[in-house]
Amino acid sequence: VVRLGSVRKTFGDLTALDGVSLEIREGEAVAVMGPSGSGKSTLLNMVAGLDRPASGKVEVDGEDISGMGEAALARFRRRRIGMVFQFFNLLDDLPALENVALAGRLVGVPARKARARALELLDELGIADRGDAYPAVLSGGERQRVGVARALMNRPALLLADEPTGALDSATGEQVIDLLLDLNRKGQTLLLVTHDERLAARCATRLIEFRDGGIVGETARERSEPWIAR
Ligand code: ATP
Ligand code: MG
Repeated sequence: VVRLGSVRKTFGDLTALDGVSLEIREGEAVAVMGPSGSGKSTLLNMVAGLDRPASGKVEVDGEDISGMGEAALARFRRRRIGMVFQFFNLLDDLPALENVALAGRLVGVPARKARARALELLDELGIADRGDAYPAVLSGGERQRVGVARALMNRPALLLADEPTGALDSATGEQVIDLLLDLNRKGQTLLLVTHDERLAARCATRLIEFRDGGIVGETARERSEPWIAR
């Protein structure tokens, strides 16, 4: 679904992406790992259409997004991409359900339908009873599940996550890992940027090691089981 060809990105005289080529097929769960500052988030933003390459090509489902204008790019993002963030990025003055439903409104779903789908997603993610709660009273794990529900509202071709467990303690992180794994098993294509070894080990069908703006290693792999039964 995703094809990057020799993508370069610079910030002033800093080269953040140094000619990255990468293909992500439908149904894969790709984890990108690597040191801080190596360009992982820049890569993700490129695939999300949040940023444009200085040169090279970014294709999603055959659509070349690298040359798109601002409006077309925004439309592409709303239709095709779901994003999950380390710090959730929820709107504090809206209850959980409304945070999720809003994502549907942004793609033109009528209010009642958007709320119905939002409720369905909260239910699927095990937090249907938290719909009326404001982000401030939700636990970290609940907030991230709301974040994932919101990202799924538009049935994205690609779910992108930048450090989705980075702000969570390890037990809560584990729940979010289970959730992402489950989504991928149901066919959701995932691109994860993470420092979390467990997230990568349990979710990823392919690991990409990033360094200095480029891919330095790549492994297709079997997912590991949660823990040895105890
Ligand atoms: P981390 O693991 O800390 O999140 P990262 O691998 O995600 O790191 P990036 O955020 O992609 O790294 O940054 C890559 C490089 O580009 C860094 O040197 C960073 O300082 C620089 N950079 C990123 N975004 C910008 C920006 N908007 N303006 C200027 N420099 C930037
Ligand atoms: Mg980053």
